[in-house]
Amino acid sequence: MIIQQVDTFPLYFENPRPYGDANGLKHYRSCFLIRILTKSGLEGWGECIDWLPVLQIGFQQRIIPFLIGKNALHKANLLLEVEKWHSRSAAAVSMALTEIAARGANINICDLWGGSFREEIPVYASFQSYGVSDKWVKESVDMVEKSISQGFSMAKVKVGGKSFWEDVSHIDTLLRAFPTTRFALDANQSYDASTARKWREILSGNTNILWFEEPLPIRLVEDYKLLRNSLLVSIAGGENLQNVPDFLYFLRKGALDIIQPDLMHLSGVDRFRRVLDLARDFGVRISPHTFDGPLSRLYTLMAMACLPPWSKMKGEDIEPVEWDVMESPFHHLFPLSPTRGKVSLPKGVGIGMEPDTEILAHYKWQG
Ligand code: MG
Repeated sequence: MIIQQVDTFPLYFENPRPYGDANGLKHYRSCFLIRILTKSGLEGWGECIDWLPVLQIGFQQRIIPFLIGKNALHKANLLLEVEKWHSRSAAAVSMALTEIAARGANINICDLWGGSFREEIPVYASFQSYGVSDKWVKESVDMVEKSISQGFSMAKVKVGGKSFWEDVSHIDTLLRAFPTTRFALDANQSYDASTARKWREILSGNTNILWFEEPLPIRLVEDYKLLRNSLLVSIAGGENLQNVPDFLYFLRKGALDIIQPDLMHLSGVDRFRRVLDLARDFGVRISPHTFDGPLSRLYTLMAMACLPPWSKMKGEDIEPVEWDVMESPFHHLFPLSPTRGKVSLPKGVGIGMEPDTEILAHYKWQG
């Protein structure tokens, strides 16, 4: 299975209405796909995230010339080299070579991984709560209401970017307006420990709080441990951790209730799956982060499908996966959407679907 051709698809979309979190507003969305073709006619798609010029130049000038002529089945060997140059690019290569291996065996990727435990995965609606308008709380409530009408029963909303009491008012409004919806609060590493603890009175006793996400800078492992012991809600984090030992450190410290690995930040699907297994071994829940990227989201869902249950509770066997509901044409690149808050996985060979060529052409980044 010799690699004959690698194509890149850098995509760009300017947000008509910027939205954001404690890190600021997002004025555009981007997506970077690759397609690897073998001489025998097999193809695999991959995805990675970074600044588009970095990815485009890195692939064109270094990674593609390296991959051409190599055996697509020698994934571990090839990834070791690509990771040295640019670990995020390795995520795309890992996906594409995984799909080629599955297509070569004429099986679905879940079967390549030993088979799935379930055919559908629960997802939560993930919001960027802040906008440019003064009426952002009203807009947030409207967005959540719309997602509930579409069948979502779980949502993630942002805190940490406004004043403490403005955020409290927002969360209080949501909890009152949607008493049967479960909410995660994401602070994007915005607080110190004492400010994070101020949420204790507001969140305590509310069983509709899924988790409190990244309340502190992620380097403050000891503070995470203290916070976990002082708040009566689950503490989640880890979307920005970039390798397996980082997760191992958090797990050994007992600093998080829920870890949130991101496939595209972990240089690929193999590392990502190693983190999932590690968390199961430690008895810590996983709710993967997958805000950017329709293909990485599909791989994330497939990896969760192949994971043993974390609980014996009815309807709770697998943790929910993030589902970005903010405006972006890239959600429709792959024909996958939730019904009643769950996504059914494709069963076909490889990833079981193809990207939409019209979207690939229409949103092509022009440099
Ligand atoms: Mg987050």
